[in-house]
Amino acid sequence: MLGCMSTVELAPSILSADLTRLAEQVKEVEAAGAERIHVDIMDGRFVPNLTFGPIVVEAVRRSTKAVVEAHLMIVEPEKYIPDFAKAGADIIQVHQETCPHLHRTIQQIHELGKKACVVLNPATPLVTIEEILGDVDEVLIMTVNPGFGGQKFIESTLPKIARLRQMLDARGLRCDLEADGGIGPATAGAVVKAGAHVLVAGAAVYGAKPGVAAAIQAIRAAAQAV
Ligand code: ZN
Repeated sequence: MLGCMSTVELAPSILSADLTRLAEQVKEVEAAGAERIHVDIMDGRFVPNLTFGPIVVEAVRRSTKAVVEAHLMIVEPEKYIPDFAKAGADIIQVHQETCPHLHRTIQQIHELGKKACVVLNPATPLVTIEEILGDVDEVLIMTVNPGFGGQKFIESTLPKIARLRQMLDARGLRCDLEADGGIGPATAGAVVKAGAHVLVAGAAVYGAKPGVAAAIQAIRAAAQAV
């Protein structure tokens, strides 16, 4: 289900969707070939914005057979991980910055039968996850500062993705490498070239004038032209 390096997977973020038509918007990207649906959970504390809770993950789950990922931009994620697991998320993504006991939190996610992903903000160095790389199913590199959709891609995250790719390959780890923030047709190629193979895209998918299907096609073409 979770591809490994060979093919690029797209994870449209519903943060930029028309929420009055949530189920349709999820089905549209799935029909256009998106492998995952990305749900951005924000708490107004870890990040300066409020978005969704488990009931929205549950609504997305009922709308799709695609992989559902819950990106938890919340303090004390361990308190809510069981709720997001129960809501039907396949992958639970927690920030290194919110988990003083990251190994324990990863274990908690695995005990609930879910894939565990650790997320790093642009300013957080890779060395902070070096010791748990062998325990996670995925690493997500933020390519903007989390909190809002539609932000500009931070170029300095590209060498960071490349260094993580080297670390994973050097250790023979079959761990997914995802990137999130400011990704669209103009940036997807560079992100994949650096070594990521799962791309979150929000505004570039749901805000695209030619429509959702054309946007997904354009991002995939850019990603695979590398
Ligand atoms: Zn996200």
